[in-house]
Amino acid sequence: MSYKNFPMVPRVIFGRGSFNQLNELLAPKRLSINAPFIYLIDDVFKNNTWLLSRISLAYDDRIIFVSADEEPKTAQVDTLVEDIILKDKEQPSGIIGIGGGTLLDLAKAVSIMLTNNGETKDYQGWDLVKNPAIYHVGIPTISGTGAEVSRTTVLTGPERKLGINSDYTPFDQVVLDSELTKEVPKDQWFYTGMDCYIHCIESLTGTYLNAFSESYGKMALDLCKEIFLEGNLSEVEAQEKLMMASWHGGMSIAYSQVGIAHAMSYGLSYLLGTKHGVGNCIVFDHLEAFYPEGVKLFKQMKAKHKVTLPQGICADLNDREYDIMIDVALSLEPLWENAIGKNWKKIITREKLRTLYQKM
Ligand code: NAD
Ligand code: ZN
Repeated sequence: MSYKNFPMVPRVIFGRGSFNQLNELLAPKRLSINAPFIYLIDDVFKNNTWLLSRISLAYDDRIIFVSADEEPKTAQVDTLVEDIILKDKEQPSGIIGIGGGTLLDLAKAVSIMLTNNGETKDYQGWDLVKNPAIYHVGIPTISGTGAEVSRTTVLTGPERKLGINSDYTPFDQVVLDSELTKEVPKDQWFYTGMDCYIHCIESLTGTYLNAFSESYGKMALDLCKEIFLEGNLSEVEAQEKLMMASWHGGMSIAYSQVGIAHAMSYGLSYLLGTKHGVGNCIVFDHLEAFYPEGVKLFKQMKAKHKVTLPQGICADLNDREYDIMIDVALSLEPLWENAIGKNWKKIITREKLRTLYQKM
């Protein structure tokens, strides 16, 4: 048995208003006046002076606004990297990603591809990155994915949706300021929050579970219950706790694995472009046979917050389309092995997956 030597984020600031310290964090990291800081920011903040006025741009520093309407693509990373290489005289001093999982993943990928040759799609997989990334900072503005702490950046490429999993992927610095999440729309808050909840359930019920993953998973699950079920927290408390739940949930799956909701949600995302948070919810809602307790609680939380999930998204699909989704889902072997065990192929058939997808 060989154990993973897992890299962690070496520096993190936590606290309401800690975003104000960004400039002082970055100043010592500036390599030269020709080496700018590049900010990748969710374009939902384009006119948000409350946030933008606190970023002080110097020399050739610049902000690139990116839409999070679609999940990140490998070609999108290539374009961003080309643009940075063409415009700047030297390698940037750092990449700062500000937004949800989409922007965090883009920032990680861009920082890797600035120091590694070839196309982004060539690095989708495990430990294919050769050179350390440039300095990169993650600043989440919505909580749940755990992308702020993880060793992967999930990208959709021409052939697959798969992360760049590497020791160079994690951020060098993370800023956890829950105030940045205060304007997240309710439905999105629920979907991305449930990503965290589902990470906990898939990790805690999986066959890969160990004491490391279990301790983080239990903490995150308790926080999710406080936030989404018990409901006696103030808004600020709920925002701070969800930020920590996301972190712990990410730590839990780092040393175990996710499971069936993620495998099947990747299928939806690859074929239909369904986004991660809502896709996980759509799938998880139908997984009571696999996660009875987890799905029961999920349905309670959904009812409590009066969230309705999209229905019938697979209604008009043809056989070929079902096959594509099933192929994507089944290709994620470690997720199935974690969920069901080594003999999962005897239990999970294509017909079973098709029946499940048909309900969604
Ligand atoms: P997101 O980044 O896709 O954003 C969702 C929506 O919320 C967008 O419309 C965005 O504009 C909006 N939003 C974000 N912050 C806001 C704010 N403060 N106020 C108002 N609106 C705001 O959401 P997500 O669920 O955090 O991320 C999903 C992505 O994360 C997927 O691409 C998924 O693959 C990825 N992911 C990555 C990992 C990882 O470990 N790297 C893990 C899980 C998911
Ligand atoms: Zn997830």
